[in-house]
Amino acid sequence: MDEKDMNFGTKAIHAGVHPDPTTGAIMTPIYQTSTYVQEEVGKHKGYEYSRTLNPTRHALEQNLAAIENGKFGACFGSGLAAIDCVLKMLNPGDEVVSTNDLYGGTYRLFTTIFEKYGIKFHFVGMENAGKIEEYVNENTRLIWVETPTNPMMNIIDIEACSKIAKKHGCLLGVDNTFATPYLQTPLDLGADIVMHSVTKFLGGHSDVVMGALICNDQKIADEIYRIQNSSGAVTAPMDSFLVLRGIKTLHLRIQRHSENGKKVAEYLKTNEKVDKVYWPGFEDHANHEIAKKQMKDFGGMISFTLKGNKIEDALNVVKNLEVFSLAESLGGVESLAGHPATMTHAAIPKEEREKSGVVDSLIRLSVGVEDADDLIADLDQALNKL
Ligand SMILES: *Cc1c(COP(=O)(O)O)cnc(C)c1O
Repeated sequence: MDEKDMNFGTKAIHAGVHPDPTTGAIMTPIYQTSTYVQEEVGKHKGYEYSRTLNPTRHALEQNLAAIENGKFGACFGSGLAAIDCVLKMLNPGDEVVSTNDLYGGTYRLFTTIFEKYGIKFHFVGMENAGKIEEYVNENTRLIWVETPTNPMMNIIDIEACSKIAKKHGCLLGVDNTFATPYLQTPLDLGADIVMHSVTKFLGGHSDVVMGALICNDQKIADEIYRIQNSSGAVTAPMDSFLVLRGIKTLHLRIQRHSENGKKVAEYLKTNEKVDKVYWPGFEDHANHEIAKKQMKDFGGMISFTLKGNKIEDALNVVKNLEVFSLAESLGGVESLAGHPATMTHAAIPKEEREKSGVVDSLIRLSVGVEDADDLIADLDQALNKL
């Protein structure tokens, strides 16, 4: 069967992966090698040096491209290294219009590294995509979107963004980390580049740090591979193997994350200590209709605030959780809780973060694939201690 005709679960397991030609091993071996012997100068089997290409990484890059409905994939040492590659496609004087409610590390990369090299950033609330146009001018080269956003779970209309990008001749990049290709495929909605922190749901087991870029256009792919090879922020064969293994259950995990997410979000809404619950599956979520249009389900990422908005209360809740672990990151099989204001978003100035809703009592949950009843009981006991 042609990979293009496969449904998601079949692709996740089979795309890009072939039995090892020398032994028949069904699992792609960990090619722990830096170099490859050539028969004579210039005569080799497609691999010359592992920064440029490694068979284990190559299998993963092809698998990732297939599940994002793209042609080309490239893996990096972290999600930020992948975004770093996209920004290196730009020149001094170029401008970027970016989501304001952005992963803290991406904000830091933009403002403390790339601003210095003469790239100008505009951080914009994109819940109404039309707002982007106010910041686009003849220097704009890239629109950078995260949806759902972290941690406010805002939803941005990817198709509307792509129309704006095309109209003004700039690239649209989408950080698809929170949704995963199981829930949303931005290339099908007109995005030029999809980025992942593979560290999160794609790896899925909290044991690898990795990033990826996926695209459909040969010219963009050539640029990405040139920078990947020139800057050298590549990922290791062992990590590529672990992520290939993780992706084989991506569809099963995301189904369960989404089921559990719904149950936990609905529970939080009924708890009297809780003020607001941010989850795109709620009908009263500001962009629920767009979420329904571009996502298959709503996932297990939830944020909520506490009545009274006291930082001590939020810190007590995350400390008292027993099944949820207090940790940065997300997307693993185990449930995690975090306090964005002091953890993931500490790099963003207080005034800036509060404008986007990251207030002192905001708690972010990455709902795992445990039994939902245990997760709800855990939240209940921690909230009852307030
Ligand atoms: C974690 C994360 C990143 C950064 O990825 P790393 O793998 O930690 O470098 C970027 N965007 C989002 C949405 C993330 O959650």
